[in-house]
Amino acid sequence: MTNGSLILALDQGTTSTRAVMFDYQGTVISVAQIELRQIYPRPGWVEHDPEEIWSAAQDVISDVLERAGVTADAMTALGITNQRETTLLWERAGGQPIHNAIVWQDRRTAELCTEVVGAGHSETIQAKTGLVVDAYFSASKIRWLLNHVEGAREAAERGDLLFGTIDSFLLWRLTGGNVHATDATNAARTMLFNIHTQEWDDELLEIWGVPRAMLPVVRDSNAHFGDVQPELFGAAIPITGIAGDQHAAMVGQACFEPGMMKSTYGTGAFLLLNTGITPVTSTNRLLTTLAYRINGQPTYALEGSIFSAGSAIQWLRDGLGTIPDAGSSESLAASLDGNDGVYLVPAFTGLGAPYWDPDARAAVFGITRDTSRSHFARAALEAVAYQTRDLLIAMQADGATRPVELRVDGGMVLNEWLCQFLADIVQCPVQRPANIETTVLGAALLAGLGAGVYPDFEAVADLWTADLRYEPNIDEGERDRLYAGWQDAIARTRSGS
Ligand code: ADP
Repeated sequence: MTNGSLILALDQGTTSTRAVMFDYQGTVISVAQIELRQIYPRPGWVEHDPEEIWSAAQDVISDVLERAGVTADAMTALGITNQRETTLLWERAGGQPIHNAIVWQDRRTAELCTEVVGAGHSETIQAKTGLVVDAYFSASKIRWLLNHVEGAREAAERGDLLFGTIDSFLLWRLTGGNVHATDATNAARTMLFNIHTQEWDDELLEIWGVPRAMLPVVRDSNAHFGDVQPELFGAAIPITGIAGDQHAAMVGQACFEPGMMKSTYGTGAFLLLNTGITPVTSTNRLLTTLAYRINGQPTYALEGSIFSAGSAIQWLRDGLGTIPDAGSSESLAASLDGNDGVYLVPAFTGLGAPYWDPDARAAVFGITRDTSRSHFARAALEAVAYQTRDLLIAMQADGATRPVELRVDGGMVLNEWLCQFLADIVQCPVQRPANIETTVLGAALLAGLGAGVYPDFEAVADLWTADLRYEPNIDEGERDRLYAGWQDAIARTRSGS
């Protein structure tokens, strides 16, 4: 292995921390992963232990180096991608977190958000941030911490307390406390960042009661953020790429042109459409966000999030015990000629875009004495396709054109029955890349762009390799009939119905 021809990527996700080493062609050289403990102090609250995250980050980096049999000086660059919105405050002096991280899924600030909406701030917030006011984003979580941890607000006002999303915290620790920064994609999920001016916004800071002194510097996703302290792994690795997970996946899927779209199907699902250098304001409750910001140029995206995709399959496996493993959902679904009118609306934690109905709960419709576990498996997979179609319709209503293809990734796309049904229902070809781990690949590619390994987007796009492609192959009447059944099921599941 030639020195300096490798890129390291760190993917700090909701359920695990991973490091992956790539060569310049994007081939995986080695992988290390550690699960992350979920802390549930009360119903609806979700926390992570920052020290556990930091220690896992160091361990996985050491492990990938060891597994590949190379030393840190062989690394040209390090890229970081992370679970978005999760909020952490730590002391400037010494770097001690003052509380566990509050995870994006945590609902403790729902009431606080209702108050902000009640005070009439929704429109200003949507206009400036592109986001729908919700506990999901960081701002209300920061406010909660400042209000509930003794002395926190005063310390923040004095500039002694720092805020960061997980990327920022890891950057701070990796650089030995020398750098307090984040990238624009992570900043865009805080609800404090103006996506038009690309700056923290005083009016938003005022609304949420967040002192400016605690905020990180916002940089391009391919900036040179700093260098890893040489004491940690034996050499100073330049950190030249940072992006939130869905944004890194946009890069990993090479969605660099307006109209290109990717959808990641894991526990939940996230659909992002590149809208180019102009932000598109949604009138259909989608989010306007950054795709990425590279070399000073923000590129925007429309985003739709589905809260439950693979989690419905997990429920069949772990909750009902009707399937032995996630993979068996494929043969069960394929064993039926049709859905026989059985629909599952997986609103286990409410409905995401475009419904934003936190009080809806999951339901199954159309059960008869002939209904079997195959119907449940099929209905759980079908729901993923219908929800994707819901989002595409919302995007088109916001002015987007029908995509030429849908690039898919995430654990669920190993399921070929699902990929074909998705193509049938969304009426566009579904394209699976050779590497479905696009998030961590995207972090490595960003770091490569930052370090000058790749001169431009074309060089990165050339590395993207197609695997299987699924063409729509269904009678139009049948498609309409299936989707009408879904719309009926959704209407009956909505909390007001
Ligand atoms: P995350 O990153 O959100 O943890 P992954 O991308 O690892 O998720 O995907 C895991 C999810 O995909 C799980 O919810 C699992 O139930 C689902 N899954 C994995 N394999 C299959 C399969 N063959 N068919 C359907 N669902 C699957």
